[in-house]
Amino acid sequence: MKIAILALQGAFEEHRQMLLQLGVESVFIRNLTDWQEYLAHVRKSREGEGGLILPGGESTAMMRVMSDEGLVAPIRKAILEGLPVLGTCAGMILLDDQHLGCMDITVRRNAYGRQLGSFQTEHEVKGIGIVPMVFIRAPYIERFGKGVEILSTLDGHVIAARQGRIFVCSFHPELTGDTRVHQHWLSGLS
Ligand code: GLN
Repeated sequence: MKIAILALQGAFEEHRQMLLQLGVESVFIRNLTDWQEYLAHVRKSREGEGGLILPGGESTAMMRVMSDEGLVAPIRKAILEGLPVLGTCAGMILLDDQHLGCMDITVRRNAYGRQLGSFQTEHEVKGIGIVPMVFIRAPYIERFGKGVEILSTLDGHVIAARQGRIFVCSFHPELTGDTRVHQHWLSGLS
């Protein structure tokens, strides 16, 4: 299986490294041609296997470049048609009802304020266990609909959730040495 990683801005290379550690091939998506080639590859693959990672970074910058590249509508369509997604930090913001509208959540950006802008901790994620978490000007989920399963809360705030084949988290699993979040998401794809 080959995974697509949106590589317009942010921590895309770190996701590629995580997948490499798990022996999974990936391809960077920088423009519409990359995306169309990837979708063609998925259609041809066994049982249409594939998935997309939306990395952390700056959601406003990513949204702007996605729009400039004509990627917003095609990516949105593929996700709504069932393409599995892993969205981390800014990637989670992109999926909410204020952005791509692929997940029934509203995300609060930079939710931890200046003092707690960046921090690390270890915490339980349902189905995975205790994982190391790196938060960088992190968002959290402030509203979620019925179809959303909450996978982790920290200090009363939702920091990881799933809706169908979309998995999102406020933190950066790709900035730790721990591959279990990626592994967990990948294990749900085949
Ligand atoms: N603060 C960023 C945003 O609003 C997200 C931070 C991150 O991805 N580390 O897009």
